[in-house]
Amino acid sequence: MTQNPPDLRPDLARAQLSDTRRDGQPTIGMVSLGCPKALVDSERILTRLRAEGYGISPDYSGADAVIVNTCGFLDSAKAESLEAIGEAITENGRVIVTGCLGADPEYITGAHPKVLAVTGPHQYEQVLDAVHSAVPPDPDPFVDLLPASGVKLTPRHYSYLKISEGCNHSCKFCIIPDMRGKLASRPARAVLREAEKLVENGVQELLVISQDTSAYGTDWKDRDDKFPILSLARDLGSLGAWVRMHYVYPYPHVRDLVPLMAEGLILPYLDIPFQHAHPDTLKRMARPAAAARTLDEIAAWRETCPDITLRSTFIVGYPGETEEEFQTLLDWLDEAQLDRVGCFQYENVEGARSNALPDHVPDEVKQDRWNRFMEKSMQISEAKLAAKVGQTLGVIVDEVDAEAATCRTTADAPEIDGNLFIDEGFEALQPGQRIKVTVDEAGDYDLWGRLDSKP
Ligand code: SF4
Repeated sequence: MTQNPPDLRPDLARAQLSDTRRDGQPTIGMVSLGCPKALVDSERILTRLRAEGYGISPDYSGADAVIVNTCGFLDSAKAESLEAIGEAITENGRVIVTGCLGADPEYITGAHPKVLAVTGPHQYEQVLDAVHSAVPPDPDPFVDLLPASGVKLTPRHYSYLKISEGCNHSCKFCIIPDMRGKLASRPARAVLREAEKLVENGVQELLVISQDTSAYGTDWKDRDDKFPILSLARDLGSLGAWVRMHYVYPYPHVRDLVPLMAEGLILPYLDIPFQHAHPDTLKRMARPAAAARTLDEIAAWRETCPDITLRSTFIVGYPGETEEEFQTLLDWLDEAQLDRVGCFQYENVEGARSNALPDHVPDEVKQDRWNRFMEKSMQISEAKLAAKVGQTLGVIVDEVDAEAATCRTTADAPEIDGNLFIDEGFEALQPGQRIKVTVDEAGDYDLWGRLDSKP
């Protein structure tokens, strides 16, 4: 599928680590492709390797072997993964492949017969075994202390928190259930323990991720709550960090999540993948909640929490999408007035059931619909941001350089949404600080503001 521009893609994150190597220390490099969920896997693998005494190299030349954590969600992502593997072989020569694409080892070894080992998603032990046989460990108990928060690939003040794996749905365009299996939720106490540790170590924002966040815990046979996401959200909210919910499907019980946002326990932000608005298109996609009256749901959420920010992603040019269906989507967007949207042009993905659907939409029609969709969403974003001028908002500081402090409001998730910039009196600010800012200028996707109260 055609993607958002790279600066709006969460799936382009790469490991950026530096480490001081002690003499003779076995050292591993990591290239991490794919979505935030894959990034969490990379963090876990590196955490374990550090615990075992390995050094982490930020470049190919300093590494004894390189792990490439791949993405196989889209054909374009598969091609990118194969390219990254090829580059690692050329630059280093000793390459271990893991991640989604590793679910199909022949696909990788067919293109790159020289890889040392291929493991699938979440096969942490197998990745570690492959590393052990390629580069034996040589731990030094005096210097190889694991940082309490583990190795993090995201800035220290925010962290992804994966609460479950897999998905029980079977949307026709998606092969994630084949690659990642059925929904398997992590025990709530394990999620909470991880979250507490992160917060103790300075994390100010927890980004809750999974394939289907609102379904969290519904795979447990014995459970006290019908929808365990509600108590998990409440518990996470009590830790004092910002808690941001991603990949929340519009099930009816989301209405019970929104009051927690109105109370200020979790951020008033819902990343909710609608994908389309026409019931026939949604049916052809076999989407969960295809029949949901989403405009009514949105109105109800806004009534409970007027400040809520809604982000969503959509697919245009899905097989059989007529001009009338697409127009319904545009009209729906006009009415829904979502704050943030991403849009993909449909493309076949090997193994997806949608490939076999009749009436594929020609590329030029997809492109035209994508342009029209993005034009409308930009107008909505511009008007929504203009309405914020003059307001005082809570923001978190991400980065400070010579020019400005780059911050985010509660309406902005890192890496996929916009920013708020402060270009005067920002010098004393520190990444991770939470401050108040008065907005004095708005663009299409970003804001500019001044400090309301000095830290
Ligand atoms: S809900 Fe649909 S799109 Fe999302 S992971 Fe499950 S099958 Fe894929």
